Amino acid sequence: MGSVIDYIECPNCKQEAYNDFYYKTGEEYVNCMNCGYHYSATIINRDKKLNELTEADWKINELKNPYGAYRIKFYESSGYNCGALENEEQLNELKTECEQDDKIETVQLSRFVDGEIKVEMIIDNGPKFDSAGFSTKDRFEDEAGGIRNCGNNDDEGDFFN
Ligand SMILES: [Zn+2]
Repeated sequence: MGSVIDYIECPNCKQEAYNDFYYKTGEEYVNCMNCGYHYSATIINRDKKLNELTEADWKINELKNPYGAYRIKFYESSGYNCGALENEEQLNELKTECEQDDKIETVQLSRFVDGEIKVEMIIDNGPKFDSAGFSTKDRFEDEAGGIRNCGNNDDEGDFFN
């Protein structure tokens, strides 16, 4: 599944969008995390050889006038879950879903309105503290530190002696 990841100018908001191009198949995805613009060209019939594909074997999806892009941060993860919203109804659905999920720390909405990118925090549950008084963020930093220091681990044996 080799792909080339590139940044291009978003055709909708002119900010940086993310382009994922699969050079073996020619399939392509564009996602803009600023405005929610989305484009994908994917092959429907994967049994066919690439040179036998006709236009009918491709599925093109384009979200030209997105409502916005969302970014969900979970307590247990340092990454984000991102996606596009087509309309306000989808935003409300997302809100309702996220409000019921206690694993979610924040939900951010980014929209392209009147020529500007507007970022809004729609859910912010704040840092979560465990019974020892550490926030999830502290825990992550501890873990990262642990990895960095693993060379000094005593279990490594008497290598330096
Ligand atoms: Zn955009």
